[in-house]
Amino acid sequence: MASLAARLRDLELRTRPEHPDLTAALARRWEELPAHVKARNQMLGRRTAGCEGTHGVFPRCNLACTPCYHSREANRVRTDGEHTVVEVERQMAYLRAERGPGQNAQLIGGEVTLLEPDDHAGALQAMINHGRKPMSMSHGDFDYDYLEALALDPASGRPRFRHLSFAGHFDSMMYGRRGLKAPESEAALNPHRARFCEMFARLEAEHGVTHYLAHNMTVTPANVDEVAQVIRDCREMGFRMLSFQPAAFIGNTSRWKHDYREFSTDEVWRRIEEGAGARLHPGAVQIGDLRCNRTAYGAYAGERYVPLLDEDDERDARALDDFVTAFGGMDFVAPSGILAARVARGLARHPRAIASGAGWGRRFAARAGGLRALARQRPQALTYVMHAFMDADKVKPAWELLRRGELSEEPAVRETQERLQACSYAMAHPDSDELVPACAQHSVLDPEENVRLQERLPLLELPLAPG
Ligand code: SF4
Repeated sequence: MASLAARLRDLELRTRPEHPDLTAALARRWEELPAHVKARNQMLGRRTAGCEGTHGVFPRCNLACTPCYHSREANRVRTDGEHTVVEVERQMAYLRAERGPGQNAQLIGGEVTLLEPDDHAGALQAMINHGRKPMSMSHGDFDYDYLEALALDPASGRPRFRHLSFAGHFDSMMYGRRGLKAPESEAALNPHRARFCEMFARLEAEHGVTHYLAHNMTVTPANVDEVAQVIRDCREMGFRMLSFQPAAFIGNTSRWKHDYREFSTDEVWRRIEEGAGARLHPGAVQIGDLRCNRTAYGAYAGERYVPLLDEDDERDARALDDFVTAFGGMDFVAPSGILAARVARGLARHPRAIASGAGWGRRFAARAGGLRALARQRPQALTYVMHAFMDADKVKPAWELLRRGELSEEPAVRETQERLQACSYAMAHPDSDELVPACAQHSVLDPEENVRLQERLPLLELPLAPG
């Protein structure tokens, strides 16, 4: 049994706003960031080390997307639970050592629900054991039985997870969904989106397992005009994040169907605002490079979308400064006693956060129509995100030069390098001791990785979807 001194040391550590490993990781991340993103509202290196994703685990998928960011060989690799759990374990151990605890990590590959529920659960547990907050990335075409088997311990029938996070990818360029092989419009997918959310609501009602759901959608010239309506249709389904990815020329070239550069990211963002029914404030908080990411936090109070922070209000900018100074990368998901102690210690180290936080609360309530309006209807948090991946032909030369420690003089290559250096979505390579931006992973490393996996995990049957 641990001595009293050891238990006190452990308690002292757990009630710190930031674990010391995270403090060190954030400092390193800030140091590495290129100067152009070291803005006052930059969260990388101050509040988070960035998002993480798995790679080389289960690249196969049973839908066909245009575009598909996986290389042609992906569907020739067998989905193998044992391989997945071992590889996730290795990657997560590396991420814990490099980036500290409490970071968001995506269990991503091809289709995650092609894993057996127990293997899927094993991979999530490995992520949790290494201090990650996992989110499973799925096309959403699975049944409640699968979700229940994932959530419940098969021996006891009781929940093995208290909470599950999933991102459901739904868009009309995905072919082969059960009951909707070739969607003619985004609206045709709405029953499938609703069904996805309803499965998680049922899981919570029947077993008490809570959830966080994100909706992902690739945007191409074929569906850009439908973005606003998708948002209106999905706002109240149960998603907490609506994320849009303007398509890029990455992955399987036979799946490139349109000129993805026909419209700008500004245009996509304009459609997002149109659907949100409000001006969004992506300038309030920056995560990495704005050319890669725009994130707008806020909530609906009735029909009104209320930004968490007003990007034009200096008082909100100061409140954010104070919040980050007090709490840094603090994890607010913790048992109530631990959380209370962390908050108290954070406020003690920067008491000004109390007054600026109270001021921010008053302004947020006023924006939402006043305290009475808030009391009548609890605001529903909804985050809007746009993540614009880069084309493989740009990423390859930029990444190769970066690996040699060279910065290009050529403006387009240099811009790509700047974005890669400020990347907010990385994948772990313990063997080469590297964190690789997802753009470089998909553009440069995936093809070779999938060839190796194809040899190691050959398919025992025909591919599920055309290559
Ligand atoms: S994965 Fe690519 S687009 Fe996304 S943040 Fe990293 S460099 Fe930018």
